[in-house]
Amino acid sequence: MVTTVEAVSHATRFLKQPKRMLVDGAWVDACHGRTLEVYDPALGEVIDHVPAGDAEDVDLAVAAARRAFADSEWSRMTASDRGRIIWRVGDLILEHADELAEIESMDNGKPVSVARAADVPLAADLFHYMAGFATKIHGQTFPISVPYAPGAQFHAYTLKEPVGVVGQIVPWNFPLLMAAWKLGPALATGCTVVLKPAEQTPLSALRLAELMLDAGLPNGVVNVITGFGETAGAALAGHPGVDKVAFTGSTEVGKLIVKAAANDLKRVTIELGGKSPNVVFADADLETAIPGAANAIFFNHGQCCAAGSRLYIEQKVYDQVLVGVSDYADKIMVGRGLDPDTEMGPLVSAEQLERVTGFLEAGDREGVRTVTGGTQVGEHGYFVAPTVLDGAGPGNSVFDEEIFGPVVTAIPFSDTAEVAAAANETIYGLAAGIWTTDLTKAHRLIPQLHAGTVWVNTYNIFDAALPFGGYKQSGWGREMGEEVIHEYTETKSVCIGL
Ligand code: ADP
Repeated sequence: MVTTVEAVSHATRFLKQPKRMLVDGAWVDACHGRTLEVYDPALGEVIDHVPAGDAEDVDLAVAAARRAFADSEWSRMTASDRGRIIWRVGDLILEHADELAEIESMDNGKPVSVARAADVPLAADLFHYMAGFATKIHGQTFPISVPYAPGAQFHAYTLKEPVGVVGQIVPWNFPLLMAAWKLGPALATGCTVVLKPAEQTPLSALRLAELMLDAGLPNGVVNVITGFGETAGAALAGHPGVDKVAFTGSTEVGKLIVKAAANDLKRVTIELGGKSPNVVFADADLETAIPGAANAIFFNHGQCCAAGSRLYIEQKVYDQVLVGVSDYADKIMVGRGLDPDTEMGPLVSAEQLERVTGFLEAGDREGVRTVTGGTQVGEHGYFVAPTVLDGAGPGNSVFDEEIFGPVVTAIPFSDTAEVAAAANETIYGLAAGIWTTDLTKAHRLIPQLHAGTVWVNTYNIFDAALPFGGYKQSGWGREMGEEVIHEYTETKSVCIGL
């Protein structure tokens, strides 16, 4: 493992290298030679440039992925050898953990300590977990009866086959981790990939691609096209050579992906937005529930699709929890991600800053009370103070819409039936939280919540083994766990007359 000092020089060295896209094992510029600027969100300054790939580049990458899928070293590789390469990717991520954490911090703005403790090890763990699946993907045999063929005998079974070439479009909030969530199962099942990182945060995906080649991944199996969503992303989502699109991002863009993929009925998995309810009952252990509720929203600056952004607090403890969460918010150290003391960095981009402060101004105009925060912080970079709002309800945009920033709306409730109904009053269904010492109450509420994940007395716990995804407009399909393997395979039924 490299030390922090060495990592600084490694990350800085990586930043100084000219950035190219990976197509068929070669590092290439965009066909038209255009580039896009990469910002350090803490400074609001350009720190790098990457190719601005578009439709022509996507064509080349898809062709390479098709060749690698059709007849190649990869398609002929044993499951065991495939698993070994995937495992090695996980090892290399750990070996370069400090460097990757720093790249992530500079590009996205998140505290380097958080990237080092969460994003990077989780990404490595995902590859290690998926490596084991490579050798455990199999069909079943079936004792079929066939009533209209009396006396006949059959041998019937299923094969699980890779879905093919997958276009993977990932967001900027967890750039490395989201790439890992998608690449791991694609490789375990034997698919090939064209990955498009977000235009705001393309750097860690390019470094990961280097590590994947070092791990022995054959050319063309993973191709990386950097570029804008409207051009490179749209070209990938609608490309006739792509069999499946896997997307994580906003619900708005998720709908565009579905439309683009509808033309030739590609397989689609989408993990989208949320406005997740986090419910604190009066009987909760408030010493853990208060920091828990604060972290549920403020982790990753609220730029989490699962963020607990609607905080339902039982009336009896409303003031106590509201004050507790606000005090917690006031103590969060906001600063540059590279500073080791920083607990919350800047938002990812000027656009995001404008969006979040726009919500705050709208709430203010509509009479929503700001308990703490509510403003931009500093003159440089894209910082917003951790914010707690009170008195918002349906009809207020801060209550109805996903803000994707460090902003929580507190709402009082008086009983379980009321809070269950209120919690579900949203187009989203990604996650929910419950804080209580009464497990009967928790178990009765869990099935009533329309959400893909429910956390009880904890929040934001993710693991490679645990499926993650949304109900309603939070998405289709699941990431991680055994479930994701099914999203990357087709089932072929075989029936042999004996
Ligand atoms: P956010 O709104 O949080 O920035 P987006 O949903 O816009 O997130 O972006 C997530 C990913 O989707 C990024 O990689 C982005 O480039 C890509 N993207 C944006 N618009 C499109 C589009 N029209 N088609 C395909 N991909 C897109």
